[in-house]
Amino acid sequence: MEKKKVLVIGAGMGGLSAGSYLAMNGYDVELFEMSRVAGGVCTAWHRGDFTVDLCIHWLVGTGSASSFYNKWNELTPMEDIEVNYLDEYIRMEDLHGNFIRVFTDIDRLQEELLQKAPEDRQKILEMIQAIRKLAHFPFAHSNPQELTNLWERARELVRMVPYMGVFQQYVSVSLADYASEFKNPLLQKTIFHLFEPDVPAIFALLTIAWMSVHQAGYPRGGSLPFAQRILDQFMSRGGKVRFESKVTRILVEEDRAVGIQLQDGTVVMGDWVVSAGDGHNTLFELLEGKYLTKELKTFYEKRHTFPSLVFVALGIGRI
Ligand SMILES: Cc1cc2nc3c(=O)[nH]c(=O)nc-3n(C[C@H](O)[C@H](O)[C@H](O)COP(=O)(O)OP(=O)(O)OC[C@H]3O[C@@H](n4cnc5c(N)ncnc54)[C@H](O)[C@@H]3O)c2cc1C
Repeated sequence: MEKKKVLVIGAGMGGLSAGSYLAMNGYDVELFEMSRVAGGVCTAWHRGDFTVDLCIHWLVGTGSASSFYNKWNELTPMEDIEVNYLDEYIRMEDLHGNFIRVFTDIDRLQEELLQKAPEDRQKILEMIQAIRKLAHFPFAHSNPQELTNLWERARELVRMVPYMGVFQQYVSVSLADYASEFKNPLLQKTIFHLFEPDVPAIFALLTIAWMSVHQAGYPRGGSLPFAQRILDQFMSRGGKVRFESKVTRILVEEDRAVGIQLQDGTVVMGDWVVSAGDGHNTLFELLEGKYLTKELKTFYEKRHTFPSLVFVALGIGRI
């Protein structure tokens, strides 16, 4: 039987993952990537002898106890990847040389914070307790939500029960607001910078929690080799990729996406099209705004955009 052909727009981690699962499930898949390399924002580049790595600082799921591990393992053999685990997540130093180290070992972290900010004892102990609890939080569902049945969802809910208190407490407060609840100025600053300050505080606590139990580490080699491994595995499963191929239109027949047009005018037809490029570009440009629901319009009109990031990389020439 002839294989169904799926065209995937974008070869970032989203497109690579979608393509890999499609290839695993017997589809004829082709990725279309406007850049010259795979990985999207999971990327790195060279300046002289230095490698500037934009993306992976820690990857959730590097430890085999993590439910994410199995998912990565489906995309590339994880036992082939050497992982570094940080002892210190960040270190915040003021102009007078005082510093606070955010250790990933929770006992050391507790000792450090209590020593440097004794006036915040109560809040520090509460935070440490939350991190210890979150370290065992079973995050990923075995299946995406839309593929789970009622029984599986009920089971997930039961597993969530012991963590609900912690979530309730830290999900509704931004990291910036949470930081301001501490008295010590340097500790305030440290907590403020644990993550992007507008995100719920729970993100920062979860990150430290996962690092503490070696479930979030740095894959040696960094972002680009990691993306390349997933691309290689995808291709070894029969997947194809076209680089420098910007998609400018999604072709629709009877309300079904059945093909794409590239910037140079080339038309490629398939049975399905998956866009793993940019959501706004897909809906407003590639589909010319013809398939916008009220919810999608509201989403793009009302949601705040993520603040722009300026990335500064410093190379240290150590012998
Ligand atoms: C600075 C930074 C640090 C990060 N750190 C971490 C981290 O430490 N750990 C972690 O887990 N995550 C991290 N992330 C998040 C993670 O990198 C992203 O969530 C993930 O890589 C996004 O993948 P994606 O495929 O959805 O999107 P993208 O990476 O944006 O991929 C989309 C791809 O589609 C292509 N494309 C778009 N439009 C078209 C078109 N019309 N035609 C053809 N191709 C098109 C683009 O060129 C791109 O390659 C970080 C992100 C950033 C920016």
